[in-house]
Amino acid sequence: MNVNEPSFRDSVDMMFDRAVAVMNLSPGLKQKIKVCNSTYTVRFGVRLRGEIHTFTGYRSVHSEHMEPVKGGIRYAMGVNQDEVEALAALMTYKCALVEAPFGGSKGGLCIDPRQYEEHELEQITRRFAYELIKRDLINPAQNVPAPDMGTGEREMAWIVDQYARMNTTDINARACVTGKPLNSGGIQGRVEATGRGVQFALREFFRHPEDVAAAHLSGGLAGKRAVVQGLGNVGSHAARFLSTEDDVKVVGIIERDGGLWSDVGLDIQAVLDWMKAHGGSVKGFPGATYVENGASLLEADCDFVVPAAMEGVINLSNADRIRAPLIIEAANGPITAGADAILRKKGTIIIPDMYANAGGVTVSYFEWVKNLSHIRFGRMQRRAEEARNRLLVEELETLSADQGLGWSLNSEFKNRYLRGSDELELVRSGLDDTMRIAYQSMREVWHGRNDVDDLRMAAYIVAIDRVAASYRAKGL
Ligand code: GLU
Repeated sequence: MNVNEPSFRDSVDMMFDRAVAVMNLSPGLKQKIKVCNSTYTVRFGVRLRGEIHTFTGYRSVHSEHMEPVKGGIRYAMGVNQDEVEALAALMTYKCALVEAPFGGSKGGLCIDPRQYEEHELEQITRRFAYELIKRDLINPAQNVPAPDMGTGEREMAWIVDQYARMNTTDINARACVTGKPLNSGGIQGRVEATGRGVQFALREFFRHPEDVAAAHLSGGLAGKRAVVQGLGNVGSHAARFLSTEDDVKVVGIIERDGGLWSDVGLDIQAVLDWMKAHGGSVKGFPGATYVENGASLLEADCDFVVPAAMEGVINLSNADRIRAPLIIEAANGPITAGADAILRKKGTIIIPDMYANAGGVTVSYFEWVKNLSHIRFGRMQRRAEEARNRLLVEELETLSADQGLGWSLNSEFKNRYLRGSDELELVRSGLDDTMRIAYQSMREVWHGRNDVDDLRMAAYIVAIDRVAASYRAKGL
């Protein structure tokens, strides 16, 4: 990376500074919101393969203006304090923007999970969780982790079990972590929530012709050509949903060992199946051109790019070569502050991370509420909704028969109308609503103020304003 490139945390701070410069906040409050409240570093040993291995982990709390604080736990070799603090800050703003009632936090463990067997990972995860639980850095009322890069449902199930073992009388134990499998208290739709959120964000963007025109594009999502970087949990779902449900042509994908290009659009499920059968490699996938230097596809000619892998991939070294007029940041921090400035100057429209990838924490919020209420969403209402709808359908049919009108309701319509909403439908509807409202709150600032030229700055302003209001209400 370029030597002039600031660190990830500095990058987030610079974006924060740009936004607060046009806000009417006292310098003291600006500083209070910006700083990371605390970062706990733990080094612990686990006996594996006959030897003690020492691991380093972090849990950083950026802002406790609302509690619990929320944010994932990442497993990667590159994890460090700077990164965890940057991600924790982004969680604060993200939660504020989508009105998830949490402060921001993030955790990380320096580990390459691929180097360990499942039972070893379980031992390591339980030990890390133990260290965090005993300091209330995992707790349903104070700090609620979730998956992030390198972790998923499996790790969350170990964490919740560890918490329950250590807090045998806590009736809300299941709410200590989100992103759990269904049988450990998870919620339908959480795994794909971030990818769904990216889809809903793009749909909302394309509902506003003025915004689409700002990106020098026209029309709707259908037929647009996209490049997706990273087919992990976020990118794979986003790419699949966009291509199969919105007619987006995913012409390029970028993975660890190279990229694939297809002018007619890739079959994402087929690529995923290929990767599964070939040790995670995309090389050799039939019907597409393999591109050894995958990252070069970020610069390809397309309508929008979806960086869905990790931070800093669009930076000072490649920003001026990015041709796509629209970028949606599905990962956290994929564009550095320096690259952001270059792209803004070029007129590239950026749908910022704190909004674009907020689907995950939004559904995490639903999961946490579900755990605290100890009941599945829809369980009380579903059949009542069906009975009410049935009443209307039957009345219409009776009327038609009585009056000899000869109407008949299309059976497909009837089936769909009669069905009460289950948990998955409710989760999707809540997520869709959240993504629409959050976008609208950003665009109001974007278009409504002449000192704001981009969505990221607008997102920061909306978020910081809400955090500031929270602090003020506490008398700070
Ligand atoms: N790790 C995800 C994020 O960066 C999800 C966080 C959560 O659900 O708490 O937003």
